[in-house]
Amino acid sequence: MAHTSIYWYRHNLRLRDLPSLERCIAESDQVLPVWIFEDRWEGDDELGFPVMDDLRYMHLRDSALGLQKRIHAMGSELLILRGDPVKILKTLSAQLGNCPVYSSLEVAYYERQQEIHLAESCTLTVVNDQSMYDEGDLPFDYWNVPRVFTDFRKKVEKYSKVRQEVAVVSAMPPVPDHDYVSWDYPAKTVSMDDRSAVSLAGDEQAAWKRVQHYFYDTQALSVYKKTRNGLIGSMYSSKLSQYLAVGSISAVSVYHEIKRYEQQHGSNESTYWLFFELLWREFFRWVARKHGAKIFQLTGIMDRYREYPGGRKELQRWIDAETGDAFVDANMRELAATGFMSNRGRQNVASYLVHRLRVPWTWGARYFESQLIDYDATSNWCNWMYQSGVGNDPRDRVFNTIRQADMYDKDGSYRELWS
Ligand SMILES: Cc1cc2nc3c(=O)[nH]c(=O)nc-3n(C[C@H](O)[C@H](O)[C@H](O)COP(=O)(O)OP(=O)(O)OC[C@H]3O[C@@H](n4cnc5c(N)ncnc54)[C@H](O)[C@@H]3O)c2cc1C
Repeated sequence: MAHTSIYWYRHNLRLRDLPSLERCIAESDQVLPVWIFEDRWEGDDELGFPVMDDLRYMHLRDSALGLQKRIHAMGSELLILRGDPVKILKTLSAQLGNCPVYSSLEVAYYERQQEIHLAESCTLTVVNDQSMYDEGDLPFDYWNVPRVFTDFRKKVEKYSKVRQEVAVVSAMPPVPDHDYVSWDYPAKTVSMDDRSAVSLAGDEQAAWKRVQHYFYDTQALSVYKKTRNGLIGSMYSSKLSQYLAVGSISAVSVYHEIKRYEQQHGSNESTYWLFFELLWREFFRWVARKHGAKIFQLTGIMDRYREYPGGRKELQRWIDAETGDAFVDANMRELAATGFMSNRGRQNVASYLVHRLRVPWTWGARYFESQLIDYDATSNWCNWMYQSGVGNDPRDRVFNTIRQADMYDKDGSYRELWS
């Protein structure tokens, strides 16, 4: 009898550099690739925000459909379903003769819980696709990850190696017979604001097109360190976050592409700095793995209780870009219109909400979760904790938004653009 497996796509919507899929294919004669639009992503959260607002939804949809097309072109199938992944996969596995399920190892709490529940009744194999370092390659156990980023960075740079990239999958085993029909993933017709710094295309082809453009066509990578605090347009930073978030490109691939670029065009502070920023992403992944649900709690990983006298009225002013601080308001308008905001903007609006309006930081993080097309549980919640003094930096990181606007938007063109 053929050895049948289910391959469960999660935040790894790609074919290149996917160790979990490579392993699944190597160990199976038949593979059913599945991606599930989770029911928890629908509807509103407890604050009344859509869990996933339209732009984020469309970006994810585009990424999944792009992958589906590529898999179909190989004569296989990507079954897109909707519901609770644990229930669906248990049923599907039972229908296919209790076949094993392969997937990507996730680090955020909820996704880890899914793995635990699924493993109660299926043979589940999860492999690290999304972190640059494998757990065994870290110079510390993940529950001993340093609390301070610099300590983490110095240790991994000295003692660990980013894993090798895995080749693109170019052939898939046959799909087993099954009774499921792909869910007709509803289209939405929201058009992107033409001032946007990012595009909604999220699939693997779009990701590599962006790498080609940012690295090779323009060589913007060679000046990244000088431009990265910019606010306007597509070129001041890599804009890879939206692809990393859905996994249409891996951080490992970006790292090795930086190395290839350096061989052709030379290395400098800027080429290193993109890797440095990827290390922030990596750091927060291990922080999330260590601290589980705490990264979503008001007291954060520090168990620090603080007063938040600000309420829904203040939150709404911030969301509606009616704080009266032109820099904060401009950034909030950009977020609502495009699902994106620069890193400089994110730091400023987060600081303003928490330290000026004194609104619970978790509400800001929830709003970002709803809006950001590059929403990533660990990067979002750990950055919010960090800005709020309950995370990996115990200092109160209060940004003077007026001074920040003077420094980073000297001529006011950003505030003008989003006025
Ligand atoms: C309050 C707040 C919330 C954030 N929420 C998210 C989020 O949900 N998803 C997300 O991907 N990033 C988040 N960030 C980090 C950062 O703002 C974005 O990664 C960055 O702006 C994306 O643009 P880029 O790809 O052009 O970044 P670049 O400057 O080109 O950086 C390259 C990559 O490095 C990583 N990176 C850079 N800075 C950080 C950082 N501070 N933390 C973690 N990774 C980083 C990202 O993967 C990014 O794509 C948040 C930051 C703050 C302050």
